[in-house]
Order: sequence, then structure tokens, then C-alpha cells
Amino acid sequence: MSDSCGYAEARRVAIFGGTHGNEMSGVALVSVWTRDDREIRRSRVRTEPFLCNPRAVEKCARYIDTDLNRAFTPENLSMPGGEELPYEVRRAKEINQIFGPKGSPDAYDVIFDLHNTTSNMGSTLILESATDHFNLQMVHYIKKAMAPESCMVLLTEHPQLKYSTTRSVAKHPVGLEVGPQPQGVLRSNIFESMRRIVKHALDFIEMFNGGVEFPACRVEVFRVHERVDYPRDTNGNISAMVHPHLQDCDWEPLNPGDPMFQTFDGSTIAYQGAGPVYPTFINEAAYYEKHQAFVTTFRETLAVSAIRKSTK
Ligand SMILES: [Zn+2]
Repeated sequence: MSDSCGYAEARRVAIFGGTHGNEMSGVALVSVWTRDDREIRRSRVRTEPFLCNPRAVEKCARYIDTDLNRAFTPENLSMPGGEELPYEVRRAKEINQIFGPKGSPDAYDVIFDLHNTTSNMGSTLILESATDHFNLQMVHYIKKAMAPESCMVLLTEHPQLKYSTTRSVAKHPVGLEVGPQPQGVLRSNIFESMRRIVKHALDFIEMFNGGVEFPACRVEVFRVHERVDYPRDTNGNISAMVHPHLQDCDWEPLNPGDPMFQTFDGSTIAYQGAGPVYPTFINEAAYYEKHQAFVTTFRETLAVSAIRKSTK
């Protein structure tokens, strides 16, 4: 018992939808729960649904001026000024005021940020830290509760790649990424998977706050390695597509020599890395503008400490 980590009770939780205005499951769930929050109410935790980018939701666009989910940089959050700033920078500052400030003791305990992907990723939980044992225990709980439906864990902790996400305002940020679902479309199966994940997550927090100890465990994660762009011609235009053997194969190993891209005249470009990687966000619609065809990950198993509520 002595080697378990104590974490403070998670008393304040927010559920964010519409960080990207055209990812409809989160937009719809937040709207449902704003009208009637009985489903997300628990006795030991206060949970608030919140629509992050209402102007983008109204337009059914990812964003108005800039990607809100990359806007939570220290520079943006400390920037003086008002109306002249890009809409999402103003919005980031507002969200940071309400749910943060980021990195401070006043910040919300947990933020769940609901996203959809056009990639065939299924249900995915996104964590930003390999040392947050509260979050690791929570995803372990969710994975077990979701079985036999699979629920993958993407770990975005990386020495160079910094995401500055909307949820990063919280002490324990958790991203939900469920797909495949086209932008601007609601699919009932995707909606229901997302709803179940949130239910299990809130059940976990309720149990934790009630004093339940969670024993040490192991959890499989996919750690972000690098972003891979589409092949391009000398003018910078895309010259090949994701290969049919890779399309929809998120989380499956890509080995050296495996087909990766297919040029417009039908020839194959193979993966040339030193060993297997696990691609995900394959052919995500929103990442064309980021010059990203997919992201590679390494699969690893993390040892998770036992956790319990700290007594003070
Ligand atoms: Zn998104």
C-alpha cells in the first residue's frame, strides 16, 4: 500500500465539445448535456459541459481564424489585447480564464475534450503525459469497461512536437478521438461510443473520489514518433495518395518495405524506416493543411502505479 501515489480528489471536471466546429459527436453531446445534465451528474464531482468554439460550430467549420486546439501556447495565453486578435486566440484566453489558468492550482482537475477523426482509429484516448498515473489508471479502467470494443491510447508526449491543446488547461487533460466520421456528419455508432467512454470516465472519477484504491497495472499506449507528409512535386503539390494497403489500417504495424503511398500513375512508394511503426490519423481530412498524411507511433507498455485519494 505504501507505494501507491496520492492524488487530490477530482472535484471539478469539464467536458469540451466543438473545439473543432465540424466534429459533430462532441457538439451534439455537449448540447444534449447542456439541456439536461442528469446523465453526467455524479454525487462527488461537478461536471460542466462546454462548447469551445461556438462561431466555428455555427459555420460547421474546423475554426474561424486559426486552430483552437493548437492555440494554448504560453505566448497566446499571456498576450495582451482584445478585438484585434484572431478569434481563437481570444477564445483561448477566455477558456484559460474560466477553466485555468493553465498550470495553476486553480485549474480544473480534468478536462475531456471530444473530437472526431475521419481516420479509421476507432475509439481513442489521447494523453499528454506518461507520468500522470491518475490519467493512466483512468484509461486502464475505461479500456476494461469498453471491452470487447477496443479503445486505444495515444500518448502525445514528445521532446519536440508540442500541441498546446485546449484540454491542456486542466491538471489532467484527456482527449477523446472517435472515428471514422466525416466532418459535419453525425453517425449514431460513433456518438454512442463517445457517450460510453465519458460515462465510464465519470464513473472512475466518482469511485476515486469515494476512496477506491486502484492497484498497480500495465497499460498499452502508442507513443507519437513523427509526422509523415504526403510526397510532393517541386511546386509543393501532393503527388501521391495513401496506399490502399495502408488506408484504414490505423494502429496496425507498418514494416520496412510495406506500401505507404501510391502515385497518380499507380506506382508504389514503400516505407523505408529501420523497423516497424504503428501509423495513426491515416489520411485525416483536417491534417492536409498541416502537411501530414499520418503520424507514426511506437507501441509500448507502461507500468502504472497504484493510486488513491490523498488524505489532505
Ligand atoms: Zn478535432
